[in-house]
Amino acid sequence: AKELELRGIVKEFPGVKALDGVNLKVKRGTVHALMGENGAGKSTLIKILSGVYKKDGGEIYIDGKPVSIHSPMDSQKLGISVIYQEFALVPELSITQNIFLGKEMKGTGPIVNRKDMEKKARELIGRFNLNISENKKVGDCTVGQQQMIEIAKAIGSNSWVIVMDEPTSAITEAEKEKLFEIIQELKEQGMAIIYISHRMSEIFEIADEITVLRDGKYVMSSPVSEVTEDMIIKSMVGRELSDVFS
Ligand code: ADP
Ligand code: MG
Ligand code: MG
Repeated sequence: AKELELRGIVKEFPGVKALDGVNLKVKRGTVHALMGENGAGKSTLIKILSGVYKKDGGEIYIDGKPVSIHSPMDSQKLGISVIYQEFALVPELSITQNIFLGKEMKGTGPIVNRKDMEKKARELIGRFNLNISENKKVGDCTVGQQQMIEIAKAIGSNSWVIVMDEPTSAITEAEKEKLFEIIQELKEQGMAIIYISHRMSEIFEIADEITVLRDGKYVMSSPVSEVTEDMIIKSMVGRELSDVFS
């Protein structure tokens, strides 16, 4: 697959239209920032992409073909991994067990036995320079390390789309630097990364494209190189829009 597109996505909760015709298109080998103020609809959009919420309208396409996502398993099968702000890791289990959770039982895919899983887990955490044993309990790892384990898990499941929901909200500056190095590497390897944030400096550091939402509405998409910080802020808060994007 080369590109993922969400078009005209609508989602209503009782009393609130969380998404009202939202578009997002992300290509392999790029980082696409999804921005918007608190409540703009960013998390709702990715929960639709990951099969957690059912959409009320719109379509999802991979390479121009419509796909159905009715469950997290559908999303995973299409090669999409979402890393939430609240991690989906199991603290009592080891890093290896977390990275390959469920794979052992199913016995499907390229990785089937414990030895192979440990080897692959070692490779992955080695790549991330974590300097911890793959047998360490996830509950004993720092938030930054858990972030890396989540990414390793996404890579371990052969995903080509990785969504990160505000990944730097609870990590140290040093961990952030490492995360950005890893994102850069993933991008060069052809991953498509959706990067949710409301930190402007990060967008200019890491993203190639940007999409802005406001109150559940799609406001704009652009290459990051063609927008200024001022333009992004104005589109997020909705002032002087006609002056900025005419
Ligand atoms: P963001 O991630 O951009 O901060 P959200 O997607 O979390 O925004 O929320 C968008 C809107 O949808 C908000 O008005 C929020 O209160 C509402 N919302 C999100 N999830 C639910 C839910 N499960 N039930 C009802 N309303 C929700
Ligand atoms: Mg929020
Ligand atoms: Mg959110």
